[in-house]
Amino acid sequence: MPQRVSQRFSVVVVGAGPAGLTVGNILRAAGVDCLVLEAGTREFIERRPRAGVIEEWAVRGLERRGLARNLLERAQAHTECEFRFDGARYRFGYTGLTGRHHFICPQQFLVTDLVREYADVRGGEIRFGVRDVGPHGLESGRPSVSYTCPGSGERRVVEVGFVAGCDGARGVSRAALPPDRVRVARHDYGVGRLALLAEAPPSSDRVVFGMHPRGFAGHMARSPEVTRYYLQCPPGDAPENWPHERVWTELRERLGAVGAPPLKEGRLIERRVLDMHGYVVEPMAHGRLFLAGDAAHLTAPVAAMGLNLALHDAFLLGDGLVARLTKGDDAGLSGYSATCLARAWDYQEFSEWLAEMYHGTASGDPYRAGAALARLRRPFDSPVAAAAFAEQYLGARTGG
Ligand code: FAD
Repeated sequence: MPQRVSQRFSVVVVGAGPAGLTVGNILRAAGVDCLVLEAGTREFIERRPRAGVIEEWAVRGLERRGLARNLLERAQAHTECEFRFDGARYRFGYTGLTGRHHFICPQQFLVTDLVREYADVRGGEIRFGVRDVGPHGLESGRPSVSYTCPGSGERRVVEVGFVAGCDGARGVSRAALPPDRVRVARHDYGVGRLALLAEAPPSSDRVVFGMHPRGFAGHMARSPEVTRYYLQCPPGDAPENWPHERVWTELRERLGAVGAPPLKEGRLIERRVLDMHGYVVEPMAHGRLFLAGDAAHLTAPVAAMGLNLALHDAFLLGDGLVARLTKGDDAGLSGYSATCLARAWDYQEFSEWLAEMYHGTASGDPYRAGAALARLRRPFDSPVAAAAFAEQYLGARTGG
């Protein structure tokens, strides 16, 4: 297929997830021309269910950039979570300790709002369904991005000032970093998680974590009609091993506790096994390419943090690009990688700490199980430990 330089943009954003669309919106608000390239269709990205728990600083960051109007109208504010272990319930009120709360909003609602604002309100350019996206010449003065158009199969080349690699864990941007200049640190949690979406109202008005010798279970509201559940399973397990009856039997058992209301059961509309692993790419930038979100760091869904980290990166990258492109101010971009990595590592460490608390009880190792229970009891015995846990759980320590 012929290749031709079709256009020039100050910024090409690869990937229309929360990170890419937030960067695009910040650029458009400042009048910077940019192009978003997305492999999926608009319908696909607007329906893909994933995260639901958003930290307050992240919502305020969206609000400051005019991107949270619908979210604030629709999202529930959560002020506490609940731990269930040894057959008992332990409510943990984090808002009372920090003055902050969590927002609950399905990720696809946020993505729908962000894409509408970017494309329909702020007039941003976006191509859906593109294939074979490839950044080139990132160390040169004239970088470009090539891609194949859906339908026609025409190969296009766009000249670009900067590339924002926001294409998630399976994208192409990360691979464009020269291997001898980056370090990828990986961690495998050694467990699997069955991620479920049930067509059923939440069974509690808070997030519930069940630590049980049979394995971890989690309950998280998504909307009045849909609830996310998690069940620990062996790594690499097949979703087909988890028919409806087995799922609900395990959830009832692992989330059972004295005085706990019965689970509201419903049809399972999503059932996938997640690999519980994480990685961090250092540095997050090379030449004219800047990675953001899951493209740069993956946090296993232990502590509900990946979307929050993606938004943190996007705020800094969007603001840094605007400062550079409109005022010639390089400070934001030059400090970008180090600032984002500090938060990414902070969240990685908390995920690892939390994972041991969630999964130690089912490890089969009495030492790990005993230590996990001690870790679980600590915030309920010590106000200092409780305050520290609340701060970390809300991502509140490092501000926004
Ligand atoms: P993505 O959302 O993955 O977006 C990347 C985009 O790039 C996609 O639209 C993709 O189609 C596109 N793309 C990929 N490759 C290419 C390519 N080659 N060319 C062009 N486009 C491409 N996080 C939380 O903070 N709270 C939670 O409660 C939470 N719950 C979760 C539950 C589950 C089951 C899962 C799987 C994740 C959860 N997360 C949560 C993590 C969160 O969903 C991710 O961290 C978040 O989506 C990252 O956003 P992103 O924009 O970096 O990447």
